[in-house]
Amino acid sequence: MASISLTDSPFLKLPTRPSVHVAAGDGPYANTRAALAQVDLSPSRGRRVLLKPNAGRVAPAGAGITTDPQVVAAAIDAFREDGAEVAVGESPIVGVKAQEAFDAGGITSIARERDCILIDMDARRFIKAPVPAGIAIDSLKVCPEVFEYDIVVSIPVMKMHMHTGVTLSVKNMKGCLWRRSKVELHMLPPVEGRDEKPIDIAIADMAGVLRPHLSIIDGTVGMEGLGPSAGEAKPFDVVVVGADAFAADAVACKLMGTQAQNIPHLRIGAERGYGVIDLDSIAVTPDNWRDLSSAFALPPENLSIEFPNVNVLDENSCSACQSTLLLFLKHYGNRLFDYLPSDTGVRIAIGKGHAEVPDGTLCIGNCTAPHRDHGIFIKGCPPVSSQILTAISGKPSVDSMDGHIGTSGEPKE
Ligand code: SF4
Repeated sequence: MASISLTDSPFLKLPTRPSVHVAAGDGPYANTRAALAQVDLSPSRGRRVLLKPNAGRVAPAGAGITTDPQVVAAAIDAFREDGAEVAVGESPIVGVKAQEAFDAGGITSIARERDCILIDMDARRFIKAPVPAGIAIDSLKVCPEVFEYDIVVSIPVMKMHMHTGVTLSVKNMKGCLWRRSKVELHMLPPVEGRDEKPIDIAIADMAGVLRPHLSIIDGTVGMEGLGPSAGEAKPFDVVVVGADAFAADAVACKLMGTQAQNIPHLRIGAERGYGVIDLDSIAVTPDNWRDLSSAFALPPENLSIEFPNVNVLDENSCSACQSTLLLFLKHYGNRLFDYLPSDTGVRIAIGKGHAEVPDGTLCIGNCTAPHRDHGIFIKGCPPVSSQILTAISGKPSVDSMDGHIGTSGEPKE
């Protein structure tokens, strides 16, 4: 059977007026089945389907960080009933192992009950994919399964995101990028002549070659505020399904109280014709879907507002160090000034883009190693948040610690 291009969904009947289906109020499994029942899944018959949830971090189900396992269970069951062969795969953020994340989030358990294959998509070598229309990037290192399976389904969590506004089904495909190559998208130089952040342009570039054939957005418990990992869990009990990832994301945005036009990677991608975000051009069921909207708290524009007296110098960091820092501030922030002077404030640097940092800066992660002599350096890629506390409290010496520790050691949300 011929494979299906990752930019051409067999479930999309009318590209100029895509359909999106919303189901709510009946729990993750029933909501997902109800929304999927609106889609003709028969093109998946006899084909191999790769489900790509958000299992990028070690977090328990219900924390609003990873995809609810019952949403994944419902997707496995629905595709199998239509005669597909189904697997679940993930390439997590740096420092996290896929199996740990599957175990912690409950996906291992539902997969085992169903005898469904779980794939660590970092285990094999990448396939290099050109990005012909790319502006910020010209190629991607993609996990091989993404091209080997006939159908790829993006199953993100409905979350606000500190750097990209939201993270939904278009951005969830970043978890199909191989190992550390994900980090490269966060470290791109500014694009000449463009006001948008390079990460936003790069995600739109990625969507030019890696668009899911179907999106199932898990709003069972979303995340508001400091997403993607340090915000507040938002119980919502909603699932959104659509074959046009941009249209599904646009509907999710509206449900979250924002607009896709305000999310740069969605706006840029839609302008290039990768999908539809104009709600007037999307056929959404049920008719009264907008009544379900419940505004998610926006991410703070500046972490210093959220954490007074803390000045975060973030230059081209990736999600892993952002998560480490946010979790540290959330769990240990009130102890920061037990060890550091509160009158001048605390400067914290993450990311590899710093030409220099002021003396006394807390330098977090290996990317800040060139500035280690200017303050306190916490090595690791990423470090875990407890390492930062250990470093500032002075016991034991940070350099005596193992620098490569996964986020499994983080406090649970
Ligand atoms: S040190 Fe931090 S910002 Fe740098 S690559 Fe590692 S996780 Fe990303």
